[in-house]
Amino acid sequence: MRGVKTWAVLKGAARLYTNERMVERAGGRFNLSDLAPIEDGAIVYSLRKVRGKEIPGEILWSGETKKIPKKFLKTRKQRDLKQKACLIPGLIDAHTHLVFAGDRSDEFIARMGGVTYDELAKKGGGIQASVRATRAVTESELFRIAKRRVTVIAALGVRGIEMKSGYGLDRATEFKQLRVMKRIEETFPEFYFRRTYMGAHAVPPGSSADAWINEICTEILPEIKARDLAHDVDIFVDDGYFDVSHATKLAEAAQRLGLGFRMHADELGNTGAAEAAAKNSALSADHLLKISRAGIAALAGSITVATLLPGTAYFLREPHAPARDLLDAGVRVAIASDFNPGSCPSFDLPMILQMAAVNYRMNSAELLASVTLSAAQAMGMKDTLGALIPGRRALFTEINALSFEGWLYTLGRWS
Ligand SMILES: [Zn+2]
Repeated sequence: MRGVKTWAVLKGAARLYTNERMVERAGGRFNLSDLAPIEDGAIVYSLRKVRGKEIPGEILWSGETKKIPKKFLKTRKQRDLKQKACLIPGLIDAHTHLVFAGDRSDEFIARMGGVTYDELAKKGGGIQASVRATRAVTESELFRIAKRRVTVIAALGVRGIEMKSGYGLDRATEFKQLRVMKRIEETFPEFYFRRTYMGAHAVPPGSSADAWINEICTEILPEIKARDLAHDVDIFVDDGYFDVSHATKLAEAAQRLGLGFRMHADELGNTGAAEAAAKNSALSADHLLKISRAGIAALAGSITVATLLPGTAYFLREPHAPARDLLDAGVRVAIASDFNPGSCPSFDLPMILQMAAVNYRMNSAELLASVTLSAAQAMGMKDTLGALIPGRRALFTEINALSFEGWLYTLGRWS
């Protein structure tokens, strides 16, 4: 309260989910009782002004409506949900490729006819098709596209978004994507954005994997750091793309500069990528459709979050990642959309969470954590985001249901 001049009260939540118990526990395997919803809950949060916009600052208090300390009730900024909606920590999508141009619905039509992703890539489709479109578009048009997407995503309740470059593969276009991300961040100060440089999404035409990783490490990353263009660095380690030696080299270069490191790992085949992610203290290892027992054990002994992307497995008609095995081994699991033009054109995180609920055998505490607290950890923000407790940033989502499970069940689209 000290130094706080303005604050707001949001009360009368049918249930308030703070994630407090899950904050106190290590690992990602939670019990149903860890949800610990508060009936008729309320939050109090500070307000701050950013470029004329008044936005939530940090959580000052959370608990039962009837226990709100009197000093916090001395404000006119109060809203009552009248027990018709619930409050959860703001949803976080910890893996998107938000900033790209072009449309690959032609590939979707071909795939419906039985053509594989590999066959399309060999004909100049796949990532290369999005690279051509993203290179061709102007920076202001790319910003307009991304801004429209963020507006729709926010309406779904998402309050934190990780976004990657990787559809330029040359310095100029990758930097154009990263500058657009910075502008997005400035345009929506009420949300949290994590900017990731993913020049190592594929080998640029005319180059080799070794030469490109070398150029990234020695020339591009120092410039990214100097211009504060990205928080983290990502690499696609898989059959036909980059290998674990490239990942190790990139991780060392990134971490020397104080940048976070994450990996697309073991999606198309098993190349020991999860083990490399663990060894290099990656923030997250993402996909993991083909992770081995050894990979699961390596992640269990590390700080790395397993970020699973059920929308991608669905869209590619692949078997799902072994979520239960990961959780039972003690790995922290996040669920994200992987929104991208090729393998998951949806950014509907609630729908993707429902896919996880149907396919992953996770309980509702694990599911809620996967898109809030664990997703915050995957973004390098485990002590700042993902819970509605004092001191944390006030990112919250109102869900149109009487419980978290009720919302997940109906996706909040009726009632
Ligand atoms: Zn991805």
